[in-house]
Amino acid sequence: MDIDKLICTLKKSTALFTPPLIDIIVAECGHDPFLILIACLLSLRAKDTTTIHVCRVLFGTIRTPAQLCAMDRHELEVIVFKTGFYKNKAEVLQSVSAELLARFAGKVPDTYDELISIKGIGPKTANLVLGSGFNKPAICVDTHVHRISNRLGLIKTATVEETERALKAVLPQKHWITWNNVLVMWGQNICVPISPKCSQCPIADQCKRVGVGKHR
Ligand code: SF4
Repeated sequence: MDIDKLICTLKKSTALFTPPLIDIIVAECGHDPFLILIACLLSLRAKDTTTIHVCRVLFGTIRTPAQLCAMDRHELEVIVFKTGFYKNKAEVLQSVSAELLARFAGKVPDTYDELISIKGIGPKTANLVLGSGFNKPAICVDTHVHRISNRLGLIKTATVEETERALKAVLPQKHWITWNNVLVMWGQNICVPISPKCSQCPIADQCKRVGVGKHR
């Protein structure tokens, strides 16, 4: 598979799609690792369209771990309510912020091991923060990246953890951050979970369609 050609086609084809949540946050707030971290935590099991509105409201009030820690819990719950699991998310946002203050002088650490050592931060969030917050090579594997990488026949894995390892072995490092970016948009618009739009897919000639049954 010609990865450079594939990425080039995906970049061109997704140019007019709505960008992923974190790209919108970066465009509006810059490469602020803390805001990217908070947006990632809020986006878990929530739609990007909902999360972006909640982020705009929240970031209009807080911009630092100290400010988030000092916020009234009920007020925070009301703001994050629409992202779902609001009680748990409000608790995680404040406990992560407290840990940043206690262990990292209020700064988001820039290594995978340190990020993952913070309660509430998983591999997906850690990799997104490293890539989008610090521009460090990292592959964020979410459901779209896992599904499409396997459908393409680029890798053969059963879990997102395996997918991250397998992708690091086959993708040139220069494409690691972009891979998540374009596949999230591809998964939301073309290579959707059920009945992907293969008939209008410009990378169909490079795709092995592994496990694809019904398609359009
Ligand atoms: S050809 Fe079908 S399965 Fe393959 S990437 Fe395109 S939409 Fe997805």
